Amino acid sequence: MRSIVEDLDLEVEFDAPIGAEMTWYRVGGRADVLARPRSVEALCTLMRRCHETGTIARVLGSGANLLVADEGVDGVVVHLDHAVFREVSTIHRHRIHRAGVQGRAGDAVRVMAGKSLEQLVISTATQGLSGIECMAGVPASVGGAIRMNAGGKFGCIGDAVAAVGCINVKGDLVVHEAPDIAFEYRRCSIIDPVILWAELALTPDDPTRTHAKVKEIFAYKKQSQPMAANSAGCVFRNPPAGDGSGRLVSAGELIDRAGLKGTSIGGATISERHANFFTAEPGACADDIIALIDHAARVVAEESGYELVRELVVWKRQETRRSGEHV
Ligand SMILES: Cc1cc2nc3c(=O)[nH]c(=O)nc-3n(C[C@H](O)[C@H](O)[C@H](O)COP(=O)(O)OP(=O)(O)OC[C@H]3O[C@@H](n4cnc5c(N)ncnc54)[C@H](O)[C@@H]3O)c2cc1C
Repeated sequence: MRSIVEDLDLEVEFDAPIGAEMTWYRVGGRADVLARPRSVEALCTLMRRCHETGTIARVLGSGANLLVADEGVDGVVVHLDHAVFREVSTIHRHRIHRAGVQGRAGDAVRVMAGKSLEQLVISTATQGLSGIECMAGVPASVGGAIRMNAGGKFGCIGDAVAAVGCINVKGDLVVHEAPDIAFEYRRCSIIDPVILWAELALTPDDPTRTHAKVKEIFAYKKQSQPMAANSAGCVFRNPPAGDGSGRLVSAGELIDRAGLKGTSIGGATISERHANFFTAEPGACADDIIALIDHAARVVAEESGYELVRELVVWKRQETRRSGEHV
């Protein structure tokens, strides 16, 4: 394992406490290897070496949709928090390709994947650039937000994407233009292991208006979700209604109707404010959260017939990655 990371321009920590210190849940185990590259080149070489040696590489964003198992994770965990991976530059593209809308003139920002989405939402709103106000109150790195196509009732990040730069399994740089990416409910079609940057197409607007929009959406989220608790947002995906309409049923409502609000296992509790948020109380461990997730899925299936599928990403040891699956 040491040979994979040696001689590269990166910081390495062995047996790094990522679950407890780098995820929003603040629980869970350690990474055998945590690598923080200082350059894109080092990251490309690292990915290539992982590929050549069959070593699993996982990318950690801001840990807001992630549970690390108590026994920790093997392979290499990559964290893009060096300044080079948090850069933002404004670009003036004459013709911007947006999802479904081609040839639209406007501004765009190119944002590296490690940038905090919360900071980006504030800074673009302050500059009067409209397009990602809907992401207010969504804790994420830009890379994690793209991977999950984060969003909600006000829109999702995929709506603003013009292009995404990635590193593929062989360690090569690749670029995907928006028309070639399918952004769907809480997922996107990109299968490359590393999202490196995103170009977001934004429209000039009155800064007072963009700011007001951000404040309004943030206030809505604050009153409907337990934002201050240790959680990872929604645990389950909203399932399809199953009537062929394409409509989704709220997983939170199904959990609520099954009478599960407030249910606890160990230090994990189903939030009273939003039943799809499972919170970690002091003393909780990852196993408590996993047990509560299994329990809720079982009870909801019994009560309503819906099979809930996790939105939360869970990292465990000895996972094998199937083609096209991110872990
Ligand atoms: C209080 C709270 C509220 C939330 N509200 C919402 C909401 O309203 N809407 C919503 O969609 N989500 C919400 N979430 C969930 C979370 O904010 C999103 O899923 C977000 O996109 C996670 O981004 P991240 O950077 O934290 O990713 P992580 O949790 O670190 O990782 C998630 C997945 O993305 C992958 N990933 C991360 N970065 C990269 C990269 N650079 N390249 C390749 N893969 C990468 C990881 O490997 C992992 O598979 C909420 C979470 C919390 C804690």
